[in-house]
Amino acid sequence: MLVFGASWRVGRIAGIEVRVDSSWVVIALLITYSMYLQISQVYEDTSSGAALALAILATVLFFGSVLVHELAHALVSQARGIRVQDITLFLFGGATRARVESRGPGDEFLIALVGPLTSGLLAGLFGIVAGLGRDVLSTPLAGTLGYLAWTNLLLAAFNLIPGFPLDGGRLLRSAIWKASGSLARATYIASLSGQGVGWLLVAGGVAWLLAGDLAGGIWFGFIGWFLVQAARSSYQELQLQQLLRGVEAEDVMAGDLLRIPPELSLQDAVDDYFMRYDHGAFPVDEQGRTIGLLTLRGVRRVPRNEWPTRRVRDHMVPLSEQVVVAPDARMDGVLGKLQDGEAGRVLVVQDGEVVGIITPSDLTRWLRRWRPLDASAR
Ligand SMILES: [Zn+2]
Repeated sequence: MLVFGASWRVGRIAGIEVRVDSSWVVIALLITYSMYLQISQVYEDTSSGAALALAILATVLFFGSVLVHELAHALVSQARGIRVQDITLFLFGGATRARVESRGPGDEFLIALVGPLTSGLLAGLFGIVAGLGRDVLSTPLAGTLGYLAWTNLLLAAFNLIPGFPLDGGRLLRSAIWKASGSLARATYIASLSGQGVGWLLVAGGVAWLLAGDLAGGIWFGFIGWFLVQAARSSYQELQLQQLLRGVEAEDVMAGDLLRIPPELSLQDAVDDYFMRYDHGAFPVDEQGRTIGLLTLRGVRRVPRNEWPTRRVRDHMVPLSEQVVVAPDARMDGVLGKLQDGEAGRVLVVQDGEVVGIITPSDLTRWLRRWRPLDASAR
């Protein structure tokens, strides 16, 4: 969810992949620009070069603070045994992808709470450094650090707003979930609250625009609009999950699979299978049993000039390393496995044989087929 477009991998911290969304570039420029305006306005005798340097420093420290906030979520998730997929920095903050709701309201509450707490802590730290450094640091630098203290405090406060998917919305959801025992109901209410808060921010942004504050107006409007979209899409994701509850893996999977014999050369596998059919993986079968999966990714890892001499058997992924479900597995659970797994595919296995493969595009295809049918049935 919350995808603006492309995102780039920038590094790995404590085993967690850190990515930057393309929207971030726009935001980083916007923050630098508004910080530059602010600094040149407040400290009139600062040269424009120094003001720009401070603005860039402030932006870097701001995103550093956001990253620390997200890392707090991620590390507590991991400590509670919930696998974290990655952290993506975008817009007014970041997102930590982890299936937090898989474990129950208590863990979700804890994981949500640690974010704003961390931002509050950072606010205190920046405040102390700015205060202690008042005599040592230049006034604009101390002022910039003081500004970051406020920004982190604002970040903590903003994230505590009870609108899903903000941390406050997650706290609200976990509380309703705990009280009602229904994750669906809790998500619905938290999502409505998120949309309400989002529209309020949009209205606030418009008011600021009308009052003549261009940067503030765009900023608020942008964040509000983003929150509306995010709240809506989190609820849609839940609806998708509920829709899929009544569906089984075999309804969605791509069946009638072609099978590759294990003694085939990689060259023949490429020529006769990957080049001919639009699939990223084929089961490898021996005497009616599936013994592995040959993926395009796996083939690509072998130098091309070695393809004619290498056997499929030596480069397939064993079935034991794949995410596997039964044909009658409920699709809402499969959806979670599909989102969790790095391979982006789930194998449907019956009596030791792969009878189907489910990829996100199979799911999209199924939904496209299903939606018009559903609409005409009403
Ligand atoms: Zn957070």
